[in-house]
Amino acid sequence: MTSNGHDHKHCLELFEKLSEYIDGELDHATCSEIKRHAEDCVACFSCLETLKRTVDLCKNVEEKPIPVNLSEKLMEIIQQIPKLPSP
Ligand SMILES: [Zn+2]
Repeated sequence: MTSNGHDHKHCLELFEKLSEYIDGELDHATCSEIKRHAEDCVACFSCLETLKRTVDLCKNVEEKPIPVNLSEKLMEIIQQIPKLPSP
């Protein structure tokens, strides 16, 4: 074993869950899994910290939930706009 036993496949899996983790939408087991992994993995740790900082900034400025699914929200808004009468 040359590495610190770190599996970067695991990193990728966790990265996909990070936004949910930040939102507090993950179950406790996955949360602690991510925390434990980030303690060993500089890449994931800094990613997590950056995400947290970004989220904090968003919260402080907007005082709104983070627009995680921006494109989804956008679609919702677009669908709520009444269609313009065609000329
Ligand atoms: Zn990692």
